[in-house]
Amino acid sequence: MEPEEPVPPVLPWRSTARKTPRWPEGYWRRVFWRGLRLRCPVCGVGKLFRSYFVMWDHCKACGVSFAREHGQWVGSLDINTFFTAFLLMIGVGFGPLWSLRTSLIVWCSAAVLVPLATFRFVRGVWTAIVHLTGGVY
Ligand SMILES: [Zn+2]
Repeated sequence: MEPEEPVPPVLPWRSTARKTPRWPEGYWRRVFWRGLRLRCPVCGVGKLFRSYFVMWDHCKACGVSFAREHGQWVGSLDINTFFTAFLLMIGVGFGPLWSLRTSLIVWCSAAVLVPLATFRFVRGVWTAIVHLTGGVY
């Protein structure tokens, strides 16, 4: 992916120029990429996380609020749960034939470690999805 050129934040529901707010062409790709890079989906500059598990309330660069609704992060938990379950099913189904003891150790550890490793990136993507649906502004 090429480095991003600076563009003004896109907040179409605040625009009075159009009757029907729309995203620019290809904007969702840019926003998803910002989420995967753990950056603010609106400006792409401010960081989402202040520590491994704790997010900032607002973007330090453009000031948008990341979480406005109670229960907003349940969607990211859903994505992480399904992603982990899918990954483990693929691993168990197509992985090496181990003894029951080894399999339990490996896959139970993976069931704990995979969601911890993907937590931030799934949160970033979910923040991007929430922004695209009008919840981050
Ligand atoms: Zn921002």
